[in-house]
Amino acid sequence: MSVSVDPRATAFIQRRHGLLINAEVRPSLSGAEMPVFNPATGEELARVAAATAADVDLAVAAARQAFEGSWSQLRPADRERLLLKLADLLEANGEELAQIETLNNGKSIHLSRALEVGASAEFTRYMAGWATKIEGKSLDVSIAAVPGAKYRAYTVPEPVGVVGAIVPWNFPLLMAIWKIVPALACGCTVVLKPADETPLTALRLGQLCLEAGIPAGVVNIVTGTGAQAGAALAGHPGIDKVAFTGSTQIGKVIGHAAVDNMTRFSLELGGKSPVIVLDDTSLDTAAAGAAGAIFFNQGQVCTAGSRLYVHRSAFDKVLERLGTIASSLSIGPGLDPQAQINPLISAKQQNRVLGMIERGVAEGASVICGGERYGESGFYVRPTVLANVRPDMQVVREEIFGPVVVATPFDDLDEVVHLANDSVYGLGASIWSNDLRQVMSLIPRIKAGTVWVNTHNMLDPSMPFGGYKQSGIGREMGHAAIEAYTENKSVCIAY
Ligand code: ADP
Repeated sequence: MSVSVDPRATAFIQRRHGLLINAEVRPSLSGAEMPVFNPATGEELARVAAATAADVDLAVAAARQAFEGSWSQLRPADRERLLLKLADLLEANGEELAQIETLNNGKSIHLSRALEVGASAEFTRYMAGWATKIEGKSLDVSIAAVPGAKYRAYTVPEPVGVVGAIVPWNFPLLMAIWKIVPALACGCTVVLKPADETPLTALRLGQLCLEAGIPAGVVNIVTGTGAQAGAALAGHPGIDKVAFTGSTQIGKVIGHAAVDNMTRFSLELGGKSPVIVLDDTSLDTAAAGAAGAIFFNQGQVCTAGSRLYVHRSAFDKVLERLGTIASSLSIGPGLDPQAQINPLISAKQQNRVLGMIERGVAEGASVICGGERYGESGFYVRPTVLANVRPDMQVVREEIFGPVVVATPFDDLDEVVHLANDSVYGLGASIWSNDLRQVMSLIPRIKAGTVWVNTHNMLDPSMPFGGYKQSGIGREMGHAAIEAYTENKSVCIAY
């Protein structure tokens, strides 16, 4: 039975949604709005303001004023306390947030509760702790220019300044938190542009920031399209850093725009992560692991295990079991707690995924299961396993961002290392084996920002996360997040 919708979630969704600039909710200056949809039905869910460059100017100015004003006067312990309060508010409003997310994004209510809310609250508490633990180094330098002079040098990490954050639709609240919270912990202020498709939880988060006592202008939310609001933010000369998660294609555009202003940037981009099953792994473990790696969040995960490499001795049997699992997953809306596969984000994404499957089949791939849409309404695609693929096919090379895995057998470690690394991407990878010697020899040979062993897609606030190659530049999480939102100042004192 479907979860009954919390009246607070309905009331929020039905509001007239404006931009959040300097603690004020306001329409866009042009008056433009854009619709957001419920992926389970395809129907319009809400309308939000569509910001243009002039709105982004206002938001950046508000963030600048806050950065140079009250926010910079706070002690690290004050920032920590405010972020801890925000974490409490995320939990206190958790069910409302989770339901808004499921209605807007389509994902399972279980994922919304556990990740969008639960992991966001944990991440916020973890990062709150960093606010009081940012430290520089004291350097015993050997400068010889002036005979007899003595010097002492030290480094001070300073907040980088105003951060423009641009996030995708696959984990809308969590991605907003991944950007806003470390930035605030470091003393920065933020203008966040949520994805066109999923602005609602970000707007609710903006309110909760204010409720937590975070001063006006420290967190600003500008909803709008990537082409208008996103581009205006990424190329804005008034921001000091752009933090982006999204496609490699747009990441490159954003990197170029940032370099023009010498704005600092970090890019967390696409992936085509390999899942490598060695010959000692039990067939059931391998099949369940591979299914979890790709079908989690309908494959709309940048680290989705979308390329499966299984040792030839087990290939057919693992594939058969994976096909059985994939075909038995129940499909339905995210508010149905029994549904294991939920709709994709949009009709556009559904058509893109189906088009890529079709092209794969036209190029010779065989469909082990799935391969088609599901239902009359809503943006569903059946979990799909493709075999008989070649390394040059589009389905093997390009990120699909849907519930589609391509499977290939291999004969030895050298071959699987070559296959796994034969990609422009390098975000994640998993190795499935208990043969320590083989696992340890594989880990350093895999070009990926995260290598999992006997698990996949597991993240923790303490584990640096980011990509090799075209999967991005920079790392989030852990101490890496502090480095991402600070500038290092060297001080040299002669005495
Ligand atoms: P996806 O293809 O998964 O939607 P995108 O990379 O297109 O991923 O989008 C990620 C984020 O980047 C979204 O918030 C989107 O609005 C934004 N975006 C898209 N195009 C641009 C652009 N030209 N400049 C800045 N941001 C953009």
